[in-house]
Formats: sequence, C-alpha cells, structure tokens
Amino acid sequence: MAKYIFVTGGVTSSLGKGIIAASLAKLLQARGFKVTIQKFDPYINVDPGTLNPYEHGECYVTEDGAETDLDLGHYERFLNIFTSQANNVTTGRIYQTVINKERAGDFLGKTVQVVPHITDEIKRRMLLLGAEKKFDIVITEIGGTVGDIESLPFIEAVRQLQWELPDDDVAVVHLTLIPYLKAAKELKTKPTQHSVKMLSETGVHPDVIVCRTEEPLSNEIRRKIALFCNVKQEAVIEAMDASTIYEVPLLMLREKLDVICMRKLGISIFPEPDLENWKVFLDKLKYPKSKVSIGLIGKYIELQDAYKSILESFIHAGAMNEVKVSVVNVHSEFITEDNVAEKLAGLDGLLVAPGFGHRGTEGKITAVKYARENDLPFFGICLGMQMAVIEFARNVLGLKDAHSTEMEPNTPNAVINMMEEQKKIKMMGGTMRLGSYPCEIVQGSLAEKIYGNTHITERHRHRYEFNNQYLEQFEENGMKASGTNPDTGLVEIMEVPSHPFFIGVQYHPELKSTVESPAPLFVKFIAAAKKYNETKGNLISALLKKETV
Ligand code: GLN
Repeated sequence: MAKYIFVTGGVTSSLGKGIIAASLAKLLQARGFKVTIQKFDPYINVDPGTLNPYEHGECYVTEDGAETDLDLGHYERFLNIFTSQANNVTTGRIYQTVINKERAGDFLGKTVQVVPHITDEIKRRMLLLGAEKKFDIVITEIGGTVGDIESLPFIEAVRQLQWELPDDDVAVVHLTLIPYLKAAKELKTKPTQHSVKMLSETGVHPDVIVCRTEEPLSNEIRRKIALFCNVKQEAVIEAMDASTIYEVPLLMLREKLDVICMRKLGISIFPEPDLENWKVFLDKLKYPKSKVSIGLIGKYIELQDAYKSILESFIHAGAMNEVKVSVVNVHSEFITEDNVAEKLAGLDGLLVAPGFGHRGTEGKITAVKYARENDLPFFGICLGMQMAVIEFARNVLGLKDAHSTEMEPNTPNAVINMMEEQKKIKMMGGTMRLGSYPCEIVQGSLAEKIYGNTHITERHRHRYEFNNQYLEQFEENGMKASGTNPDTGLVEIMEVPSHPFFIGVQYHPELKSTVESPAPLFVKFIAAAKKYNETKGNLISALLKKETV
C-alpha cells in the first residue's frame, strides 16, 4: 500500500512548491523508495494546453501526450522518471468527469454537489497512482495558496483522506514564507501563523512546515513557529534561497525533511541516501572550466518560465561539458537584417525557440540566416526548425515567398504545411500531434553522431510539418532530412552537413533532459558552441599576435 505526502502552500504563490516537492521526492528515491509526484491545479481549464505562456509559463508534454503544468518537468528532471496524464489534474478535469457522469445518469437521481461528488472524484484521482502498486510514496502538490476559493475542494479532499486513511499513511507538508524586514532587522512569523491557522480551520493540520527565508532561522524563531503552528520544533524546516534549484535536495537533506516525513509515515528503517551522481553533477555545475554564450531567440523572452525546460536542459548540458552556459535572451521581434550582426555579436551558438503565430517570425528567420552564413552553431526546436526550413527555401532555393501556412495561409510555396489529420480538427484543446513518436535517423548524419543511435523517440507538440513535396529540392541544395517518422514519413530532423553544426528538430528534446540523463542534442550543441568559442579565441589571439609583430 502506498503512502501519501501532500504539499500545500501558504502566504504567497511562487514559493517553489514544485522544487520542494521534487527535492523531497529525490531524497526518498535516493533512499531506495519508488516515488512519484502529481500536481493538482485549481484552475478551470481542463489542462494548461490552451493557456498562453504569459499566463502559465511553458506547457510541459509527457510521453503519453498530456499537456501539463511545468512543475511536471521539474519532477521528471529531478527523479529521472516519466510522468503521465494521471500526474496532473485540474479543477476543470474533475468537473468534466463529474458532469459527464451526471449526463450519463450515473448519480441515480441524486443532487450532485461539491461535497461529496467533486471531493470524491478528487480523492479517487489523488489515490490513483498509489493504487497501481508501482510506488511506495506518492507526493501530491496542491497548486495555489491556502485561502484561495478555488483550492478549497482540494484541501477538503486532503482533510477527508487524513481522516479516512491510517494515520501513518498520510503526511502534510506546508510551505510558507518567513519575510525578513530590513528596517527592523527581523524575520517575521506572523504570515505563517495566519496561513497555518487558515489551513487548520479547513480541518487540515500540517505535520511539517517548510519555511522559505532569505536569512537563517534561529532556534528561537523555530520554537516560536512550532509553538504557534502546533508542530514539533524539528518539523520546522529552513529553506534558504539556493544558488541553483539542484542544490535544494541537499539543503533539505541537511534539514532532515525526508527523515521527518518518513517518521510521520511510520517508516523507521531506511538506508543512507545515494546522491553520488547528483553531487558529481552539482560540482560540475558549480565549478565550470569555461563559459559559452548562447542566444535564445524567442518571443516570450521576458518571461523565463516560458522556456523553462530549454533553460534547464542548458544547465544539464553545461555541466556535462563543464562550461557555464550563459543564455542571452534575444527578442525575435526586434531583429532585422540591419541589426542582426550586432544583436548576435559575441554569441557562440543560437537556439531558435518553439512558438506559435506570426509575431516575431521574420526576426527568427533573419537570425537563422546569420547563423547559417557565419558557421555559428544553430539549433532549432519545433517552430525553430520550421524557421530554418523557410530561411533555406527563401535564401538558398530562391523561393522568396516561401512560408508556413500557419503565418501565411495563401503562400504559393508552403514549405511548412498543416498536417493532413490536423485539417479537420475544430476543437483546440489537446488536439495537436502530442507526445512520444519514433524517429529513424539516417546513418552518417550529424543526428546519428549526436544520438549514437538510429532509432530514437522524442516528444512532440505541433500542428504543422515540413512539406515533403519540396524534399528533393532541399536535399539537392544541401539541407537534408536526417530523421523521419518511420510510419508516416514526417520529417523530424533537418540539417545542413556543410555547416559545422546546423540542426533543426520538429520535436522537443528539452522535455526529456534530466540531471542524470541530459538530452544529447543539448549536450552536443553546447560542445559545438564550446569549440566555436575556442576557435574564435584562437583567431583573436592569432590576430593580436600579428598586430604586435
Ligand atoms: N506553431 C508550430 C506548429 O504548430 C510550432 C509549434 C511549436 O513550436 N511547438 O507546428
């Protein structure tokens, strides 16, 4: 029988509940337990797939094609496991299920209510992964902040489970903020007291309080929190700001968060955690030997969460190469033929990001052209690959009006076209080509060198594809399709073999990069950028030498 840990949040949002949940899971996993994490989100959207990145950050896609909250990305990156549709549940999905059942007449004439019908459905889903007998411990992160109207049914479901399940099968961890008042030079516990009080009023009592803080918690403060919030002093955990999120598991280990949770769950025998690989990674991350600058060309660059998995993949790939990857955000809307050289000066590689819609696409195409013509390592993801195709069509094949029908529905040269099966789709939610598909790689290609394999699977999220009618023309002129879907022939990878590193992929390799298994494309892209940087350095010193002679 699985045990359940619930993680709630108080005082304010953005405290990093996902990172705390993932860190706790990592520690339990390192002690030999089979752990998974799920996220329950209070909003009414059935999933975040229809949400603009400005609203909700990146939409993370799982193997089984679920469009989910970006915290699932953290769970996978920390735990090196796959999550699935079952790991992300929203209020919208709960209501959809209950309403469908009501329409089917499943409630036998009863009035359908929040309690018990909605809470029963929430509980059923909270216990679902545990019931599969694949996991020892299931951690459930409750989105939102305690006190929000929207999250009340979720908190009520936790209350019922705390009451229904054996005492040592449930633990509740409450994450809160201890603000530091500079003027008074004091840490303040009052907001935490209030938020725990609010949680207790709904009938849920936290077993552990994790305190986000900029200053260390003194014993006195810990005692005060313990006293007013009715927990043991050892269950008041300090969560100081860390230099990287990957340090948080070690900070939580030091604070014994995992041991205290295990104690509450009646687990008394457990091995020392095996975090050897994790520590090696952290060392490489913290002490890089050199630095590369990568331009991230996108239209949501003001919002770091929009490209979360890409940024994390750079961190994994940087550590593998023992370099610090400095990501320079370049807004695609402001790139023109006249300023592109200046905007991209000093970069060692260029990544053109995924995206939707017309805005910023001309800037992306201009940036790709610069990278292709100047031997700058180039990596295009999804829309980024499509931009590389359009650029090549316009500037090498001479098809000046080449475009994607997403931006220009009537273009005479639709080198990127809507996929056939997408044309009949009217409903927007969950209808893209989503999730994991196989790809066959051409022997001797850059892609094969990168993966060391000719059969791969990667995750997708798109409606448009390379138009195979143009394939011959592209290949004759130096851009090759080096990876295709074996069942449909859909082009998955395009590359320019005459360039040192120029590759675009229709899929999203960033979704499968984890600390223990970084995405090969990112690792090799950073290696290419490192090489570019060294060559550039050699050229400059050669030039300087010449000048001094
Ligand atoms: N808008 C493009 C498509 O739907 C690319 C999608 C993406 O970058 N995820 O095909």
